[in-house]
Amino acid sequence: MSGNRTFTMLKPDAVENGHIGAILAKINEAGFRIVSLQMQQLSRHEAGLFYAVHKERSFYGELVDYMTSGPIVAAILEKDNAVEDFRTLIGATDPTQAAEGTIRRLFATSISANAVHGSDSNENTAIEGAFFFGAKEQF
Ligand code: GDP
Repeated sequence: MSGNRTFTMLKPDAVENGHIGAILAKINEAGFRIVSLQMQQLSRHEAGLFYAVHKERSFYGELVDYMTSGPIVAAILEKDNAVEDFRTLIGATDPTQAAEGTIRRLFATSISANAVHGSDSNENTAIEGAFFFGAKEQF
């Protein structure tokens, strides 16, 4: 493996608004290598499991509704310092607070429909990547 990994999802708003290509281009331009890539629509069970850490938060129901509203694109990415660099590339959770030029600033529609997910640690990268991809689907 030539670098660290992170896991991302292009969320339903980004897919619905036709931003898959533009976001993947930004990811490649920023030096990330695509290790795994897949498009699918999450069930309520899957979305609930993926965001189980937020189960007690007031926005959990809204988040599950949103994440199951249309297809997502899941990917594992590789680069030195992948987790931190990808969080910088996507910007703050709330797109109105995200820095100029970040993916969320450019493509997100709201704090919930914020275009893209990025793992927050190496540990969660491994858990989230394995949620979608087996060893034979990681290149
Ligand atoms: P992230 O790591 O930047 O994605 O942010 P969090 O882990 O805190 O939240 C996970 C996801 O929940 C975010 O990406 C948003 O889609 C959603 N979310 C976070 N905060 C809010 C909120 O205050 N309201 C709503 N509706 N959704 C939120």
